[in-house]
Amino acid sequence: MSDLPPQSAFATLPLAPELLATLESLGYHAMTPIQAESLPAILAGRDVIGQGQTGSGKTAAFGLGLLSRLEIKAFHVQGLVLCPTRELADQVAGELRRLARGLSNVKVLTLCGGAPFKPQRDSLEHGAHVVVGTPGRIEEHLRKGSLTLDALTTLVLDEADRMLDMGFQAAIEAIVGQAPASRQTLLFSATYGEGIRPIAARLMSEPLNVKVASTHDDTTIRQHFYRIADEEARVPALQRLLLSHRPESSVVFCNTKRETQQVADALNATGFSALALNGDLEQPDRDRILVMFANKSVSILVATDVAARGLDIDALDAVFNHQIARELEVHIHRIGRTGRAGGRGVACTLVADNELYRLDKLGEFLGEALTCEPLPALRGNPQPFTPGMATLQLGAGKKDKVRPGDILGALTGEGGIAGDQVGKIQVTERSAFVAVERDIARAALDQLANGRIKGRSFRARRITR
Ligand code: AMP
Repeated sequence: MSDLPPQSAFATLPLAPELLATLESLGYHAMTPIQAESLPAILAGRDVIGQGQTGSGKTAAFGLGLLSRLEIKAFHVQGLVLCPTRELADQVAGELRRLARGLSNVKVLTLCGGAPFKPQRDSLEHGAHVVVGTPGRIEEHLRKGSLTLDALTTLVLDEADRMLDMGFQAAIEAIVGQAPASRQTLLFSATYGEGIRPIAARLMSEPLNVKVASTHDDTTIRQHFYRIADEEARVPALQRLLLSHRPESSVVFCNTKRETQQVADALNATGFSALALNGDLEQPDRDRILVMFANKSVSILVATDVAARGLDIDALDAVFNHQIARELEVHIHRIGRTGRAGGRGVACTLVADNELYRLDKLGEFLGEALTCEPLPALRGNPQPFTPGMATLQLGAGKKDKVRPGDILGALTGEGGIAGDQVGKIQVTERSAFVAVERDIARAALDQLANGRIKGRSFRARRITR
């Protein structure tokens, strides 16, 4: 037997020992396919276009490249990652910080729209090695002089297709216009359609193309298609599928914003727990909805593709396509959200007569004949399911120096509830959201409202049913 490391071992790469040790500590024992194909080129300084889904390990692929090029002693922005949404930016920054934890003192800053400008400017004054953010806000910082890219060595466009869909093209071009020509540019995208090609050609130099098929295989996502007679039959069919599969967390994709609200209303009217997620929401409402969904006090999100971008939810048990997506690649992206991380997922798509041609095209694309099944029969008289948790919102946040431990302490203190009845606790600037078991939500609310945290009492209310 040879002692040489296997081809997919990170140790085959010219990575700093600190990074290798961190990878080991994170349990990243072997490269994912996209990492194995792209990292040698990325580390050699080449421009790379990577086509892969969320879940493929792309963040670590560009993250390791970016961190490897940092000159840590020089305290100016050397890496910039552009993302379509704040959620994705937070996720990317989190992964970069994890990867950088063995390197001393690497500062990663997020700069996204929807957050106050001034604190970001102040943070920039203290210096950062890597900035992760949304294009609009980054451009604003460049325009106002609070950020300069003179020392930039690595530019990453993450989910580039999404950024273009969201109208960020002008902002991206303005940003690139201020970056040194000698930089390395890495572009990641789930799809590589007509929109992206010309941009890639303009912004990149002799890029290597790496395409990795979805990391899911047939055994992790089961796809089902159901014919429906007409538009009226859509919502009842969806309800039947929900009653049959009973997923703890699921997303229903709709093609329009209006429909997300209509479908969520129809589901709630029949006893389900659903919320619409669409582009009309203000950022605080969007954040609140995502918190309630992630902490399992709302079980169904009804979303447009745009609104669902950057959603970081590990455990989607099912995805429902209220209609088949207009673009095939969007369909693949949607169903890739279930069955993550080796878990089993189910993807159900409703198909009306006028969508049959798209089903055929999808079948051609996937190289298999896709057939429709009859809707599942329901045994007995199953009732809509309700989520196991409820969310309480506390009128105190980071600005009051409240930490999750303080809230847990207040809940479980004298006469309080048991710790294992408390779910996720998320503290934002001005509020905190606590998930508690639904059955004891009342008692938990009383405990919070009557108790004291950091010696003070704060308002508390229940925001889910
Ligand atoms: P991404 O596609 O970047 O969103 O990554 C998907 C998930 O895979 C993240 O939770 C990473 O922490 C994880 N991950 C990335 N690379 C590896 C690896 N080589 N081995 C194990 N997990 C990984």
